[in-house]
Amino acid sequence: IMQLYVPLNWFGTYYRAIQKNFVDMENMFDLLRETHEVVDAPGAGPLIVNRGQVEFSNVTFGYTPERIILKNVSFIVPAGKTVALVGPSGAGKSTIMRLLFRFYDVDEGAIIIDGQHIKTVKQDSLRKAIGVVPQDTVLFNNSIKYNIQYGNIDAPEADIIAAAKYADIHERILTFPDGYETQVGERGLRLSGGEKQRVAIARTMLKAPKIVLLDEATSALDTQTERNIQSALNRVCANRTTIIIAHRLSTIIHADEILVMKEGEIVERGRHEDLISHGGMYHDMWEAQLRNDQELAEEVKPETDIN
Ligand code: ADP
Ligand code: MG
Repeated sequence: IMQLYVPLNWFGTYYRAIQKNFVDMENMFDLLRETHEVVDAPGAGPLIVNRGQVEFSNVTFGYTPERIILKNVSFIVPAGKTVALVGPSGAGKSTIMRLLFRFYDVDEGAIIIDGQHIKTVKQDSLRKAIGVVPQDTVLFNNSIKYNIQYGNIDAPEADIIAAAKYADIHERILTFPDGYETQVGERGLRLSGGEKQRVAIARTMLKAPKIVLLDEATSALDTQTERNIQSALNRVCANRTTIIIAHRLSTIIHADEILVMKEGEIVERGRHEDLISHGGMYHDMWEAQLRNDQELAEEVKPETDIN
C-alpha cells in the first residue's frame, strides 16, 4: 500500500506544480502577445493626467471579430470618484480593466482620460498613471522589500516602510525570519491571499497613481485579519479615481455609481439604494448574498468539537 501511495502522492504534487507553471506561462504569453498587438501611434506624446477623469464612450470590443464581448459601454468616472462593476462571471468586467490598461484597442468608441484618447498617447505613460490591485498578486522570487519596491524601483527605504504600514503589512513583515529581506514567492516564504493583496496595495501606494483599478478577490477571505484588508483598500482608493470589480456587494454600498453588467452590456446603473429599490438584477444579487452570508453564519462546525 505504501508503495502505491507514495508515487501517487508524488504525482499529485508535481502535477499541481506543472499545472501552475502552465498557468504562469500562459499569462506570460498573453502579456507578450498583448504588448505586440498594441503599438504607440506615430509621434504619440505622454498622457498628461491632471485630475484623472476616466471615460468610456460607446465602447464596443471583441477579442476576435466573430464575437463581440462589450456592447456600446459608456460611463464616466469623475476624478477621485469610485465606480463599481458587478455582474456574473463572463459579463465583461475584467475586459473593461484590460482595455483601460490598453492591452487591446477598442473596436468602436473611445476611452478617454482627462480629454485624451488613450490610443493617441504613449503606452508606458498610460500604465504609469494606473495602479492595479489584482485578484491574485504574483510575487517575484525575491525579497519582500523588492516585491513592494516594484511599484517604484527608486523608492527610498523609508517610503517602502511607510507604504507597508499603510497597507497594514509592516508588523507582519517584522515577524518574518529576515524582516524586509525575507525571500518570498514560490521558492521562499508563501504568503496568504490577503498578504499578497496587501503587497499589491503597498506597491500601489508607492506608485501613487491618479487612477486605481481594483479586482476584489472572488473567494471570501476567511480570517478576521484578512477581512480587515478593507480599510487598507479604502485608503489606497481615497482621493483616487477608482474602478472596482466587486464580488462582495457590501464593499461597494458607498460607490458613487454601480454598473451592473450582463453579457457585455450595462443593464442597470446607479447608487446602491437606487438599485435596491429598483428591484432588478442588483436587488436579486444583494438578496442572494444576504441569504448566503446568513447560511454561512449559521453553519455549525462539528469537527472543531471533535479535535
Ligand atoms: P468577467 O471579468 O466579467 O468575468 P471577462 O471580461 O473576463 O468577464 O470575460 C468576458 C468574456 O470574454 C468571456 O466570455 C470570456 O470568455 C471572454 N474572454 C476573456 N478573455 C478572453 C481572451 N483573451 N480571448 C478570448 N475571449 C476572452
Ligand atoms: Mg474577471
